[in-house]
Amino acid sequence: QIYWYQNQFLPKDEVRISPEDRGYYFGDGAYEVIRVYHGKLFEADAHYDRLVRTAEAIHMTLPLSKQELLDGLNELVKRNQVQEGTVYLQYTRGIAPRAHSFPQGAEPVLMAYAGDLKRPLAAMENGIRTVTMDDIRWLRCDLKTLNLLANTMAKQHALSQGADDVILHRQGTVTECSASNAAIVKNGRIITHPANHLILHGITRMVMLRLAERLGIPAEERPFTLDELQAADEVFITGTTVEVTPVVSVDGLPVSGGQPGPVTRRLQEAFSEAIRS
Ligand code: PMP
Repeated sequence: QIYWYQNQFLPKDEVRISPEDRGYYFGDGAYEVIRVYHGKLFEADAHYDRLVRTAEAIHMTLPLSKQELLDGLNELVKRNQVQEGTVYLQYTRGIAPRAHSFPQGAEPVLMAYAGDLKRPLAAMENGIRTVTMDDIRWLRCDLKTLNLLANTMAKQHALSQGADDVILHRQGTVTECSASNAAIVKNGRIITHPANHLILHGITRMVMLRLAERLGIPAEERPFTLDELQAADEVFITGTTVEVTPVVSVDGLPVSGGQPGPVTRRLQEAFSEAIRS
């Protein structure tokens, strides 16, 4: 596997990470995961914009232009011969002796790789089981930073309960999942948490809302409660790797009779259509 590290394309074994990289000490950096379909980056502009937004918010200046970055990522996809997969990229604040204060003059460190990943067809077909959990994260969940400890703990909690993922909530208001956004359907309307500081502004969420509009399915971006979640006609999640995946149970209780619902199915079909073109 070929990595892109500090502007060089190298086999994974030859990538040398400094122990003083601030990503390693502090999770001090930004990242993106971009889908590759048919050998092409999906929604690359939106991912780039979100990366820049995160970088600016944490006071980091990216050293590569948009064109340089996208050219590099496309080259990575080509060198790894990825047709269906993902690109992961991260920028850390740089290499410096450990101190909380931002280092003077340190250059951000870029690391990226591309790998094969099939569409999760079984989960998309059959749906996933979820458990609800307190959202203990900080108040800038809109930033895609490397600090993912709460997310990894949440995912592990789900697995320990025999579920596939968590649905997080703050005092009874549903936010999102460990690595995806959540939505419910009630009386034919999609409801999903507003894109504010409490959730990641998912690119797939945005694509889903765009498709819903095109299909004439009404959608509301507003907070919804755990009670609304339990009483929903349908529940689904969206994310780069999971696309639109139905949720068939919440805390052991079936959602929409334990079967993926019709609105979810329409969105899935529209999504499949969108990535075909
Ligand atoms: N929320 C969280 C916490 C995530 O980590 C992700 C994806 N990595 C998402 C939502 C979905 O975002 P996207 O559709 O851009 O992948």
